[in-house]
Amino acid sequence: DIVSSEPESDAELAFEGALRPQSLAEFVGQQKVRGQLELLLTAASMQGRTADHILFAGPPGLGKTTLAMIVAHESGRPLRMSSGPAIQHAGDLAAVLSSLVPGEVLFIDEIHRMARSAEEMLYLAMEDFRIDIMVGKGAGATSIPLDLAPFTLVGATTRSGMLPNPLRDRFGFTAHLEFYETSELEQVLVRAASMLQLDIARPALHEIAGRSRGTPRIANRLLRRVRDYAIVTGEGAGIAAVNAALELYDVDELGLDRLDRAVMNIVLNRFDGGPVGLNTLAVSVGEEAETIEAVVEPFLVRIGLLIRTPRGRVATREAWKHFGLTKHNQGLF
Ligand code: ADP
Repeated sequence: DIVSSEPESDAELAFEGALRPQSLAEFVGQQKVRGQLELLLTAASMQGRTADHILFAGPPGLGKTTLAMIVAHESGRPLRMSSGPAIQHAGDLAAVLSSLVPGEVLFIDEIHRMARSAEEMLYLAMEDFRIDIMVGKGAGATSIPLDLAPFTLVGATTRSGMLPNPLRDRFGFTAHLEFYETSELEQVLVRAASMLQLDIARPALHEIAGRSRGTPRIANRLLRRVRDYAIVTGEGAGIAAVNAALELYDVDELGLDRLDRAVMNIVLNRFDGGPVGLNTLAVSVGEEAETIEAVVEPFLVRIGLLIRTPRGRVATREAWKHFGLTKHNQGLF
């Protein structure tokens, strides 16, 4: 999927790696979060201690991994990368924690998907830099305490609501990343275009930025498809190439992708605008409720097509207009 928010190939991962800003100053947008991080890192470095644990929350592709790398880079500390799905037993986490060097930054992506037993070990590790390792089984089992080197945990999650409170409370700072403004994505694209050595006019970049679902990862991806189009047609990368390439890949004027449109289609056509419950919606489009809630809905809500109510998801007047439809039982309720 051209607009799926996860990296879709090794080539894309490599390109993303090359594009990652290395410092807070180069990181575009998220002004508030940048200011907060700056203060937190400066204070820690002035006092010569490790920074507080940090949680980045928000939809995929908004810069959580990039910020984790910046935290390590700006504080001159080594970085260890792991992820929730890779930590399926407390032992997996114990192995990582016990091998950290003093001051290391430990990044755990998708931290909400870590095993429960590991979560409990993490509480103690975050608070006291200590873990208890269980040895033996049954009546003879004992726990051996192990001191850890001080570290900074940086967690990333698309679903902060899924984290148990004791874990959430142990982060000194939680940053909620927001979707980017078009002008900010344009800045991201200027940099990417220069790395691709792509000669592209500013209005064309503006057009791509406006159709990138507020997400830097998607902006960079669409830019590469426009570049392909320009190379193949020999037309040059102008507005016409942008329109043609994005149409080819099914990205509409608002940047909605196939799944966004499927969700809106169900709410509007099958449920006459809603309310529809999350699970019903997920089943109807054949996706996991988690994906709908963490990836699809936040953007639809942000651009004003959908609202969440206690009774379910409801399409807005804007949604009816955008899709050129009218409500059937208008006025009945
Ligand atoms: P996440 O971890 O939230 O899924 P990433 O940090 O992997 O997102 O970012 C995805 C891509 O978007 C990377 O190539 C990254 O360089 C780029 N990117 C994200 N945020 C920014 C930003 N604020 N400025 C410039 N590039 C960004």
